[in-house]
Amino acid sequence: MKRFSYSSLETFKKCPAQYKIRYIDSIRKPDESIEAFMGKRVHEALEYLYNEVLDGRIPFFDHVVDQYHSNWRDKWHSAIGIVRAENTADYYKILGEDCIARYYRKYTPFAEPIVGNEIELNFTLDDDGKYQIKGIIDRLDHDGSGNWEIHDYKSGKRVLTQNQADKDNQLALYQMGLMSKDKEIKSVKLVWHFLQRGIEVESIRSKKQILDLSTSIKKQIDNIRSKISNGGEFPAKKSILCNWCYCWEECPMQSGTNPFIK
Ligand code: SF4
Repeated sequence: MKRFSYSSLETFKKCPAQYKIRYIDSIRKPDESIEAFMGKRVHEALEYLYNEVLDGRIPFFDHVVDQYHSNWRDKWHSAIGIVRAENTADYYKILGEDCIARYYRKYTPFAEPIVGNEIELNFTLDDDGKYQIKGIIDRLDHDGSGNWEIHDYKSGKRVLTQNQADKDNQLALYQMGLMSKDKEIKSVKLVWHFLQRGIEVESIRSKKQILDLSTSIKKQIDNIRSKISNGGEFPAKKSILCNWCYCWEECPMQSGTNPFIK
């Protein structure tokens, strides 16, 4: 049975046609935006940093940045697209480096009670295994007494306001994954790191909010499944996001290749 993720469910909300192309027709492309490429390299650098911390060492900043540069070089490929034509690849490379530098300065000596990086979650929202979810927690902290923190790194420009963070479903979904494990849980804090600005935003969910979210995700999954089995419509929703979309050839509302990607 198919597993759903936060990003697949978000894709469905933003553009059902893109959801169909990517997740039902399984059309995979090597293309990715430079923003996504940079974000992955920054995540790897912070993962390296905290893996060293978990091993009892605090890496020098230069070593963390060396990791970033070598991954950037080794993983660079020809299908990376730049939509904002005024920016070069080097601009993004430096932007990522700045995110790491800002983070390093702010959190040295990294005394957070981290228990793991890039933790894969596979869980179900029900007892029958009908609603299977997957996700990855960037960083998980635990004080040893049942108080947990789910941390997420954002390398994009956008910063969530407190109100938006309190309504954001991604980390709340990961909280459900954490709660589904057999762990002592007294509290769970959701923490976003907006790396371009060095801003941290936190949010806490009530039991009711978590239950309500579970119900609404189940409904969304039911809706997708009923469209698939009844041959329902997956309409294309044009938006600014089309500029970053690699599905123009398959999209019923567009034609040719995406002209915004250089
Ligand atoms: S180009 Fe736009 S409308 Fe078409 S699939 Fe992509 S996001 Fe949807």
